[in-house]
Amino acid sequence: MIVSVNPATGLEIARYETHTDAQVEEALGRASAAQKDWRKQKLAVRLAALRRVAATLRANKEHLARLITQEMGKPIVEAEAEIEKSAWNCDFYAEHAPRFLADSIVPSNATESRVVFDPLGVVLAVMPWNYPFWQFFRFFAPAMAAGNGAILKHASNVPGCALAIEDVLRKANVPDGLSRSLLIPSSRVAGLIADPRIAAITLTGSTPVGASVAAEAGKHLKKQVLELGGTDPFIVLADADIELAAQTGARARFQNVGQSCIAAKRFIVEEKVADKFVAALSKHVSALKVGDPMDRSTQIGPIARADLRADLHKQVEQSLSEGATLLLGGKELEGAGAFYAPTLVDNVTSDMTACREEIFGPVAPVIRVRDVETAIAVANDTEYGLGAALWTQDISRAHVLSHEIEAGAVFINGMVGSDPRIPFGGIKKSGYGRELGEFGIREFTNIKTVWVG
Ligand code: NDP
Repeated sequence: MIVSVNPATGLEIARYETHTDAQVEEALGRASAAQKDWRKQKLAVRLAALRRVAATLRANKEHLARLITQEMGKPIVEAEAEIEKSAWNCDFYAEHAPRFLADSIVPSNATESRVVFDPLGVVLAVMPWNYPFWQFFRFFAPAMAAGNGAILKHASNVPGCALAIEDVLRKANVPDGLSRSLLIPSSRVAGLIADPRIAAITLTGSTPVGASVAAEAGKHLKKQVLELGGTDPFIVLADADIELAAQTGARARFQNVGQSCIAAKRFIVEEKVADKFVAALSKHVSALKVGDPMDRSTQIGPIARADLRADLHKQVEQSLSEGATLLLGGKELEGAGAFYAPTLVDNVTSDMTACREEIFGPVAPVIRVRDVETAIAVANDTEYGLGAALWTQDISRAHVLSHEIEAGAVFINGMVGSDPRIPFGGIKKSGYGRELGEFGIREFTNIKTVWVG
């Protein structure tokens, strides 16, 4: 049994029976058969289906957004934006997949040699709750365009979203069974990885889970794309536009109630401007409106699960006991929901919990550094390497520094974001492989050489 609980109220929304072994077997069989047919369909047919998925998402936006907010608590306006973005991603690949998947002619001593992009098969998608629609469609739109099928094992706190995704695909007349959502506990994922009908695995989630899924996939030599945790630095140099950096930094940290892999998780600020930056950031954090996530003016809803809030609070307390200074928040809010006060901590150092561990919630740690070199050294002093933001008015210097930063993306004078047009992914313990853009669509293809003598 999987129980869906509204984190804003603590009340049960619904109970779902987990899928039986027979149902899993049926889903795998159907997905495998559907994908064998799908890969043979003309690209135009596949892309027309993708456009129908986009239209269906938009047509059902209100209902789907409410479901997201009920199950994981993000503010309703952000839930609506998530559905819009998922639809955009489908439209983007419907438009650009022909270019990304076009054969590439390679000069050689053959009469003709070319590279073609064939699908891999059915991909197992193990997905998290923080963006329950976007995380899936970020993977599935390009994968489906390229001719793959999917089996989705969604996080256990968003079963309604998992089934709603299947329903969207059904309403959009995507071939029956091409993508199925399985309501199963994580203990049954290894069995799916081992199944010969699963060709590859994509996982977005925490680093320990990524390591365990990668080990299982490695046993069976199956391709994986892993989008894992991060402790993204948000570096503010002395010549930055401090007000704009603070305003953007507040969004970069507190969007989605701080529960994003690419959230700004460590504010690394040059000492000369640190007081000014902290004052500006503090003003923006204090102004955040906490409340009912269904209210359109709410900016901070509950943490997605009560156990995650308890873990978050422990990390904050630990950081304070290690010497960090609490400026704002630092406490669980009273009441039935899993709310946490927007929190700002200053004088944090790299060896403290707030830096070493991923802080998945509305908590902004500030690390003061003496100069640029120290800022870069501190930014890289982490096991993770997902995104990084760098604030300075000297763009040429920023370009030079961007090569020094160990991350999958460096955003100069902006917040790290995902965008269908540009690749997304990490290095170090933030995972490997890329999603989105031209690089993303090719991850689940067989990059095949065809040689003519
Ligand atoms: P998890 O990484 O545990 O969950 C992500 C997905 O993996 C879920 O579908 C989960 O299923 C599944 N899963 C969990 N354990 C296994 C396993 N052993 N084998 C296969 N699949 C598994 O995230 P949590 O929800 O527990 O969040 C914990 C922390 O992870 C967060 O506080 C945050 O730091 C990080 N996280 C990072 C995300 C990102 O976007 N990078 C997203 C979500 C979390 P089930 O729900 O059934 O356990």
